[in-house]
Amino acid sequence: MKIAVIGAGIIGVTTAYELACDGHQVQVLERRGAAAEEASFANAGLVAPGYLLPWDGPGMPGRVFGSMFSRHAPMKIGLPLSGRDLLWMWNFYRACKPAAYLAHRSRLHQLAIYSRERLYNIGAELKLKYERSAGYLVLLRSPRDSKMMQPGLDVLRGAGVAFKELTAVDARKIEPALNSEMVFHGAIHLPEDEVANCRQFALMLKNEAQRRNVEFAFNTTVTDVNRNGSMVALGIAGENTLRSFDAAVICAGVDSVRLLEPLGLKIPLTAIHGYSISAAIREPINSPASAIMDEHYKVTIARLGNRVRVAGGAELGGPTERKRLGTLQTLYKVLHDWFPGCANLSSGVQEWKGARPVLPTGIPMIGATGIAGVWLNLGHGSNGWALSCGSARIVSDLIGGKKPGLDAVDFAASRLRA
Ligand SMILES: Cc1cc2nc3c(=O)[nH]c(=O)nc-3n(C[C@H](O)[C@H](O)[C@H](O)COP(=O)(O)OP(=O)(O)OC[C@H]3O[C@@H](n4cnc5c(N)ncnc54)[C@H](O)[C@@H]3O)c2cc1C
Repeated sequence: MKIAVIGAGIIGVTTAYELACDGHQVQVLERRGAAAEEASFANAGLVAPGYLLPWDGPGMPGRVFGSMFSRHAPMKIGLPLSGRDLLWMWNFYRACKPAAYLAHRSRLHQLAIYSRERLYNIGAELKLKYERSAGYLVLLRSPRDSKMMQPGLDVLRGAGVAFKELTAVDARKIEPALNSEMVFHGAIHLPEDEVANCRQFALMLKNEAQRRNVEFAFNTTVTDVNRNGSMVALGIAGENTLRSFDAAVICAGVDSVRLLEPLGLKIPLTAIHGYSISAAIREPINSPASAIMDEHYKVTIARLGNRVRVAGGAELGGPTERKRLGTLQTLYKVLHDWFPGCANLSSGVQEWKGARPVLPTGIPMIGATGIAGVWLNLGHGSNGWALSCGSARIVSDLIGGKKPGLDAVDFAASRLRA
């Protein structure tokens, strides 16, 4: 089949690659000049099926509102809020009931495990050498942090996730560069989770996809998606004629909403913005060996090759272009608390803000829409990198009429047909 993939973030690139492996003729349409320029550009890089939790945890709405006025709060409401944001908040509130949360968490966990296997297989088959480090340490500053973790740990136990509760002394054996002056309560170690460079992997896989004859059309903005006879016809900015395909897979992140609305598909997807800073490592001996998460501030610090990346913040509403200074300051503070002097912060620091495409339940939409030829692979929220390879494999199987390796019913896009 001749298939268009709209968007060349990590989801679009992995989708294009899988479709090409299945023998389809694929064209990727991307409005930016290169792949992985938006949400997939400088994310935290965690591939952490063990510690992957949806946003809709019990008590989360209270935490969001309770933390609005605190300086270093991990969650913020950005103004102005749109009607869509308010509707999203209502749906999110409803998804936070304990039973719904456990069901969502279990589905995400299965997809993440499936995805990690596919990521490893692709990496091994193609001999891809991207920046990655094994192991994930969740640091607990106080007994209170530890107490708040307990329900989450019960979920991990139930799911059979390998983890260890550590004292601060034992945590330092795993991350010897942790600030010796920092007094903290303990840590959770997840040895099977890892951190890896999402953008680097996306660019490498894009090259591999091109070797399989996938055509990448950059600086190409899709303006609308239509049905035309038996074909899907795409309008492109600056072109007078529509481009026709047998099928199109929408992987356009947050902007998928605008493309799908005219087709009667109302997707309750919103942007939850997050931030990262990336800086050259100044002193390897003072730097993290892999990834850590400061559970109190919900900030990760990870080693990516010769750089350290600090990521965090969750901001609903407001524009992507406007950076909140306070959140960036929190990232610098947390880095300084745990690894003082590890990075060169005087010049060349990359400060970034990205938009996580988040559905209220945190469960992505993967599959048919009910409109012939129009498929979705979107809404991966804060776990798009970790879920990408499995999601792409599933959508390619579904398009090819094959049974996916993981039951895809729970991810069906048709669940939200207006
Ligand atoms: C601070 C932060 C930290 C994160 N940390 C992690 C993490 O540790 N682990 C993890 O798994 N995930 C993490 N994420 C989430 C992850 O980055 C996203 O889920 C993922 O990048 C989404 O990928 P995507 O391909 O759907 O979207 P994008 O990467 O945004 O790609 C969508 C693409 O579609 C293109 N596009 C949109 N509209 C059009 C159009 N009309 N025509 C043509 N092209 C179009 C855009 O230009 C873009 O390139 C994090 C996100 C943030 C912000």
